Amino acid sequence: MARKQARPTPTQQVVLTPLQIICRECGSRMRMGHHSHRTVTTVQGVTRLTIKVYRCRNQQCPRFHQPTRPEEEGSWALPHGEFGLDVIALVGTLRYRQQRSVPQIHEELLKRGLQVAQRTVTDQLYRYEELLALHLADHKRLCERLKDQKQVLWVHSA
Ligand SMILES: [Zn+2]
Repeated sequence: MARKQARPTPTQQVVLTPLQIICRECGSRMRMGHHSHRTVTTVQGVTRLTIKVYRCRNQQCPRFHQPTRPEEEGSWALPHGEFGLDVIALVGTLRYRQQRSVPQIHEELLKRGLQVAQRTVTDQLYRYEELLALHLADHKRLCERLKDQKQVLWVHSA
């Protein structure tokens, strides 16, 4: 489907650099390979991300030339996602906590200054459901692990 609206112009620029620039495989200091760019729409506005991608330069290393992207990138958006995790969370909250319909959510996003098509709301809702399913699976695993630990703790405190 063609975009009805032009992509909004970024309201801020952020540069992301990996915190860990020591290769986890060989321990040598990685060097910056190239910049990559992404535009992410968050509830605050449209952010142009400049991402510094580092690579290991040690030719003997199994991770030679493999890209290392900034850790923080994942907290902005999902891989290949154009919308911030905060937008996904907002859409999910409006839908499931406040029982709003897709057109109502669309209207709410426009009111908050997010230039999005209604189709975007549906897409982000899918993302939200996927993340929720993953989270629930994780939560279940966590509970199972905690249950085991609790039994261990009880044994110790008894
Ligand atoms: Zn290395």
